[in-house]
Amino acid sequence: MSATPDNPTKSTIVFLHAHPDDEASQTAGAMARAVAEGHRVVTVFATNGDHGELPALGLGEGETLVDWRRREAMASAEVLGVQRVAWLGYRDSGMTGWAQNLLEGAFHGADVDEAAARVAAILDEEEADVLVGYDWHGGYGHPDHVKVHGVVHRAAELAARRPRLLESTMNRDLVRGFYEATLAAGEADSGFNPDGPMDDGNPLGTPASEITWQVDVSGYLPQRRAALEAHRSQATDIEFMLSMPDDFFAAFFGREHYIEPGLDPATRPSMQLGWPFSG
Ligand SMILES: [Zn+2]
Repeated sequence: MSATPDNPTKSTIVFLHAHPDDEASQTAGAMARAVAEGHRVVTVFATNGDHGELPALGLGEGETLVDWRRREAMASAEVLGVQRVAWLGYRDSGMTGWAQNLLEGAFHGADVDEAAARVAAILDEEEADVLVGYDWHGGYGHPDHVKVHGVVHRAAELAARRPRLLESTMNRDLVRGFYEATLAAGEADSGFNPDGPMDDGNPLGTPASEITWQVDVSGYLPQRRAALEAHRSQATDIEFMLSMPDDFFAAFFGREHYIEPGLDPATRPSMQLGWPFSG
């Protein structure tokens, strides 16, 4: 489905995510909002999340971690209203420098053209209007997230009809402010520093001045929470997010941030709220 004479303002939006749960923590608000506004949303997962945590109560009989994580991803898609989930089936590459980076089938080592051609085939099937990936360093330098950036840019070139590109990112200035607020509220200093080196040596996300779209998803917090809850096996990350006090959760997850390559962020002064999927 795409923009048609009958339906000129509706888009088909394809999100490429590195692992199951990245959609919940990064773009779930925009997905739920886009669906609510009548757009078609497709999620493509590059990897199966093979290096995730085992569920606390163990796997089901005959079930693998990949089965479990795919099931969680489908549950997340269900609560967000995502119409289609597709899997590229690469192996999770693990963090920078892990031996798994080099394993056969790991996304990190995948041929960019080959992976991009597979994404482009989905874009063509869907007549996609928009493709969403990650910023140039994958937000925090995870090799699979960095790879998503290169693959979406190439896939957009390979698609029969070039989609608009958006890159999900984190607002470094906002994250710094949130962290300072938690310290001011008496939380212990974990040493976290968004300006310090992340997995690949670069700081976290993107400075506010380089972000094109600050998206208000404050009306979709229940869906955001439900999508995170769907990935509860990944307890280290997910429980931290779910345990945020409600007002903090609302402030943190009520906005999402995207870069639109080629659109000058200076045209969007002071990080005004915007919505890239209207009209
Ligand atoms: Zn990930």
